[in-house]
Amino acid sequence: MIVQKYGGTSVGSVERIENVADKVIKYRNNGDSIVVVVSAMSGETNRLVSLASEILGEAPHGPELDVLLSTGEQVTIALLTMALKKRGCPAISRTGWQLEIKTDDSSNKARITGIDTDKIQCHLDDGLVVVVAGFQGIDEDGNITTLGRGGSDTTAVALATAINADECQIFTDVDGVYTTDPRVEPNARRLDQITFEEMLEMASLGSKVLQIRAVEFAGKYKVPLRVLSSFEDGPGTLITTEENQMEQAKIAGIAFNRDEAQLTVKGVPDQPGIAAKILGPISDANIEVDMIVQNVAWDNTANFTFTVYRNDFKRALEVLEDTANKLGTTTVSGDDNIVKLSLVGVGMRSHAGIASKMFETLADAGINIGMISTSEIKISVVVDEKYLELGVRCLHEKFGLAEGAKDESSTA
Ligand code: ADP
Ligand code: ASP
Ligand code: MG
Repeated sequence: MIVQKYGGTSVGSVERIENVADKVIKYRNNGDSIVVVVSAMSGETNRLVSLASEILGEAPHGPELDVLLSTGEQVTIALLTMALKKRGCPAISRTGWQLEIKTDDSSNKARITGIDTDKIQCHLDDGLVVVVAGFQGIDEDGNITTLGRGGSDTTAVALATAINADECQIFTDVDGVYTTDPRVEPNARRLDQITFEEMLEMASLGSKVLQIRAVEFAGKYKVPLRVLSSFEDGPGTLITTEENQMEQAKIAGIAFNRDEAQLTVKGVPDQPGIAAKILGPISDANIEVDMIVQNVAWDNTANFTFTVYRNDFKRALEVLEDTANKLGTTTVSGDDNIVKLSLVGVGMRSHAGIASKMFETLADAGINIGMISTSEIKISVVVDEKYLELGVRCLHEKFGLAEGAKDESSTA
């Protein structure tokens, strides 16, 4: 039993949907029982978001957005099921609510809380390919919900867990997980395997090849998860546990995130409670904070810098200006032309000197580092947006991530 998910580009035209139908039938002829999860056709979700923006303004949200966006996937399940049936393959199309994919009630970013497996099992027992709309569910009150952008990955993993599938296969427009986004670094190399932990870091630090929640879910329930190409055959990348990892590279990959903005308030009194006074109102305004740095100056005042999502930048700046006034300082500044670059690898745990090598590499390329944050398996830096490509390529080369390359950091 396998669950396959086909992303937006893979179902981006009628011709591609017909190709997916051929592919599904090939697997079925191998004897697999198949549940197929599909995304909206490429560009469709963006198109629907922009329609909503015309009415609601920038960053639309709310329950009607769920109703609107869920239509994208409904189109694809219908078309794919038609294509399968035309080929003589028995199939059934199912929306999230028809399958009772239950979620909590947080609209636009709902979490799956349970799936009625009886229904899906019944269809499989009848020999049908079950074609499921990704990215959507239903809350306790019967409202349609959606799972956040990229959420079809999570639908696939949740279904694979619920029906105890042998593998969850994510088919997309690249043939696996690469050392970094191949659109930015053409020398990026496909990884045969990556650990759940590394994939989770890569996803949360900006590599959108898999939705973060899908990786979390798969890691928690130990669902074998594989990323593969819709367009060519190949082994793809297996997301695996650390124990099963064959080779232990120091660095698995480089992630980057353009969705960052930074804010600074200067000259606040360096006394207990100051961080809470600055960040409290930000969190009260429902704005998520990522990196935080505080420096204390010679005169016992502190400078406080933190990052937020770009969408929240303007609002965060207003809240911070208000707080600064209350604290008796007016020096607030912001920059939404920054990006975060991150090195990720479980091998960092047992290797010293990776951070300094990273900083040296960026310095040699003339790239100034704004902020730094580290954990056991990642190092992130904030740099000017214009250095994104240069930074990624220099690090990729220096850490020997390309095919057949030598890790110049091996002496570190
Ligand atoms: P889908 O529509 O199939 O869900 P996505 O656009 O969500 O596809 O994810 C695939 C894209 O992820 C690729 O086209 C690639 O540009 C991007 N990507 C970012 N980081 C990586 C990475 N490390 N490895 C592979 N792809 C990556
Ligand atoms: N269609 C949704 C999106 O574009 C969900 C998905 O493709 O996974 O984000
Ligand atoms: Mg995706």
